[in-house]
Amino acid sequence: MQHIDEQYIVNNFESALDKGYVKAYYQPVIRTLTERICSVEALARWQDPIVGLLSPFLFINVLEKYHLIHKLDLAILDNICITYNEMRNRGLPLHPFSINLSRLDFDEIDMLDAISKTLAKYDVPSTAIHIEITESVMLDNTAYFRRIFDSFHDAGFAIFMDDFGSGYSSLNVLKDYSFDVLKIDMRFLSDIGIRSKKILASVMNMAKAIGMHTLAEGVETKEQMTFLRNIGCEMLQGFYYSKPMDGDLYIKYLSESKLGVEDPAENHYWNAVGQINFLSPDPLNDLTNEQIESGDYGFIRENSTALALIEQRGEQVELLYKNEAYENGLQRIGFSSVDDMIKLINDNGSSNYSNVDSQVKMTIKTGDIIKEDHLVNGIYFTYCTKCIAEGNGKVMLAASIQTYGGEADKLTTDLFDKYSRMLIDTYDHISVIDPAKNLVLTRLYSKLGFNEDYPNLPLDEAIKQFAENEVAESDRKRFLKCMEPSTLRERIKKSGARYFQLPFSFKTQSGEYKMMDTRLTRVFMTYGDVYIFSIEEMSEQAYKAAEIMLDKHPELFDFT
Ligand code: C2E
Ligand code: MG
Ligand code: MG
Repeated sequence: MQHIDEQYIVNNFESALDKGYVKAYYQPVIRTLTERICSVEALARWQDPIVGLLSPFLFINVLEKYHLIHKLDLAILDNICITYNEMRNRGLPLHPFSINLSRLDFDEIDMLDAISKTLAKYDVPSTAIHIEITESVMLDNTAYFRRIFDSFHDAGFAIFMDDFGSGYSSLNVLKDYSFDVLKIDMRFLSDIGIRSKKILASVMNMAKAIGMHTLAEGVETKEQMTFLRNIGCEMLQGFYYSKPMDGDLYIKYLSESKLGVEDPAENHYWNAVGQINFLSPDPLNDLTNEQIESGDYGFIRENSTALALIEQRGEQVELLYKNEAYENGLQRIGFSSVDDMIKLINDNGSSNYSNVDSQVKMTIKTGDIIKEDHLVNGIYFTYCTKCIAEGNGKVMLAASIQTYGGEADKLTTDLFDKYSRMLIDTYDHISVIDPAKNLVLTRLYSKLGFNEDYPNLPLDEAIKQFAENEVAESDRKRFLKCMEPSTLRERIKKSGARYFQLPFSFKTQSGEYKMMDTRLTRVFMTYGDVYIFSIEEMSEQAYKAAEIMLDKHPELFDFT
């Protein structure tokens, strides 16, 4: 590092300020889940015409020693305001700026008053400024600094704890002050070995437990980025994304960067999303601060470790996070991957996935955790959803999946198998239509003696033959209309249920015809449309009602 005489700094600082040699450089902060720019940190640089570019490490200490540091910090704020207004003039999204303050700032002047005056001069809101303070600042005089920080909070500023872990009383500082964001410097962990990883994961866990947001700075590699993402670190900053840039370059970067800038109106939304703890054994059921305070532990905590975060925008969905347990769960029910499921939903519209879609709608409507059992590809699973944030036309869902299998679930699966088979006995006939598996009206179970399989016929031909063989002539036309394969899916969707049901007269074993309820149910398979065609005896009352209704209101039985 270059050596600069202390006296050179003291003698030249104020003229350097006047001449504009001291400037803010900007380093973007990236939202981990979206990789969009969500804020920026201003860092001081002194571009001296004689000695060249000076790093803050060379002049901050000196300025502190000579009671000049507040002048630097206010000059940097001035720079920020100019850049902010430049962004406003160009119609760029106005993300917040971080400013670094020194503890001596507060000793020299009324910093809140000075900052507020600068902001007022440039018409910049306090919510656009984040205050960064290093933990060592607050070692002594807790009450004094608490008062100062409270007044900054009251005025609308967010406060970041900079360089967490670099000092030696970090935990005390955390206990005594309420910061909005914990900033962890990756450079304090000299390598990213297993110990460092465990420390970082524990810090994330702790930050979320006490309701602080998390930002990792000094991120230089993809490996670090991936790890931080997996442990739920909300924001990233470092050379991996960008070095600090001067104001002009930063404006250019903002306009051209392929990363894009987060809509500042979404701040609350992402803060709510950031509260979810990826490392928790039961992320959906984590206790909120209010619950801890009120001593409300009286709800059931289940061991659901699979977790995904899925964002819904109308019919479109986007996967922002999934862990391995969730990926495995989806594979067990027959998707090739979570990405594959997301693609299927986006290609076909989520309402085509009616069995899970109605659950998701309910979660969004009620804001509650909804837990439902489903069958996909004939595999039984429990799906748990919770709406964790909402805004700007989108909703973030946390989802968890539990599939059954293995020793631990043997009892559940055995019971399910046994009694679900018994349910079949409530029908008189069941056939399956599964074109992809070449099952065309294939009989599964019949008390009516229908035993026709039509494997080598196209579906409409098979239905025609079935109608001729099994349906009373008077009902045949109506039956064919109801079964029309080309419009089946649309008609079921329109019916508002997963099936539709109509009475028809079928031939019985004795050769007589008898009116019975017929139901076509769409079941969910990942590979395509499958229908269960079932016939069921009617009670005497239902029979009479059907006869009257068929006579008086035939239009009600028209499913075209
Ligand atoms: P800081 O606030 O923790 O700032 C982060 C430092 O890390 C910056 O150094 C930045 O350039 C550097 N950095 C960012 N990403 C990476 C990376 O991926 N790898 C590595 N190796 N370094 C990275 P800088 O700008 O030299 O600032 C040093 C410190 O000086 C700052 O640490 C802050 O404490 C202080 N400082 C900077 N500007 C100001 C200011 O305007 N006022 C006050 N009071 N202090 C300032
Ligand atoms: Mg900083
Ligand atoms: Mg730092």
